[in-house]
Amino acid sequence: ESEKLLEKQRNIDSSAVAYPEDIPIAFEEGKGATVRDADGNTFIDMFGGIGVLNVGHANPYVLEAVHEQADKLVHTVDFPTEARLELIEKLDAIAPGDLQGNNRVVFGGPTGSDAIEAAIKLAKYNTGGDGLIAFRGAYHGMTSGALSLTSNTGAKSHYTPLLSDVVHAPYPNPFEQGKSAEEAVAHAIEEVTAIVEDPYSGLANPAGIFVEPIQGEGGVVTPPEGFLSGLRDIADDNGVPLIFDEIQSGFGRTGQWWAGEHEGVSPDIMTTAKALGGVGFPLSATIYREELDTWEAGDHAGTYRGHVVAMRAGSRAIEYIQQHDLLAHARDLGADIRARLKDVADGNSHLGEVRGRGLFIGAEFVDDNGDPDSAIVDSIQQYCYEHGVLVWTAGRHGNVLRLLPPLVLTHDLADTALDVVADAIEQVTT
Ligand code: PMP
Repeated sequence: ESEKLLEKQRNIDSSAVAYPEDIPIAFEEGKGATVRDADGNTFIDMFGGIGVLNVGHANPYVLEAVHEQADKLVHTVDFPTEARLELIEKLDAIAPGDLQGNNRVVFGGPTGSDAIEAAIKLAKYNTGGDGLIAFRGAYHGMTSGALSLTSNTGAKSHYTPLLSDVVHAPYPNPFEQGKSAEEAVAHAIEEVTAIVEDPYSGLANPAGIFVEPIQGEGGVVTPPEGFLSGLRDIADDNGVPLIFDEIQSGFGRTGQWWAGEHEGVSPDIMTTAKALGGVGFPLSATIYREELDTWEAGDHAGTYRGHVVAMRAGSRAIEYIQQHDLLAHARDLGADIRARLKDVADGNSHLGEVRGRGLFIGAEFVDDNGDPDSAIVDSIQQYCYEHGVLVWTAGRHGNVLRLLPPLVLTHDLADTALDVVADAIEQVTT
């Protein structure tokens, strides 16, 4: 049945849709951290809609509010609703550091890319600049502005010109760069400093520094201590806004509400989407320091800037995470999973590095020469699928196994999934 649906979709859907050919699955039902396919097979979901389903598929606490709201009112454009004001207040209560009690929110449309577009405009408006700094390996989305900031895709070349004044600086990745953590951070910070401070080496008019506190699509690249605080200093010294893209790393994924909090650094502007919509409703938001709220009414209009049902879902998801202390759970369970993967890595020269925070986990695979090996990861993904576990991939070279399970994943279910992942690694690499 799955195969039939996939075949039909291939025939009638856009050629822009990318299918993981190794996991021919058609989803029929999801519950918590499991999904069932059209043939009745159940899988443990270790990728959670790429970081969307933090409170689990069909979370009943969230859905109760969704049904209630949908029965009452679905759409208002930007007219006030209880749902909208409630979510703004809840986002303030969980906002990182300096942003808490000192922020405004502009809601986006359905995708994370929308939140990035708002952040680009806001940064430009406030600085009067046009130059944007992003990082190698970055992924910020596929709309034209966001795609200008994205670096890890070959798709860009067909769609130029994009925003022209964008420079991609090195993101500290000690494993890939063969540097120590200190060297990798120092190198990245030096490069960004030069780009921001010396117009001849970078941008004449810097407007913002866009960074993922942990690179997701780039391979769950987790920067060493000192990188985010170094960027904060550069931003402060030069009056350039620091923008954290928390679309994948945020909303509890890493065991803090926002990944930047692990280093105690708060941004001037922050983007969120994905898990913000509760159980998968499309919603994004750009949260920024109140002082930056200078742009004019109508500057960033849009029909779906905040969808009432999605907003209710987002508020309930925040409550659910708080009531069940899922941040602590994500920290504990994530540490267990990483420890388990590190045990596997100890005896396996192909598993180069295990990294991440909380339930945002990456395992990088290399060939006999230590070079990136995506074939290993594809085979692991397929083996896992055949044994009832869904995992995802990442990395500039496609050689990183990525786990982003719902935060409601239990220790027992995680053990079962990790047995399969460990077997898969052994089968594929030995
Ligand atoms: N930023 C980051 C960090 C992301 O991971 C993504 C999506 N993978 C985006 C932006 C774009 O979000 P969307 O696909 O919802 O447009």
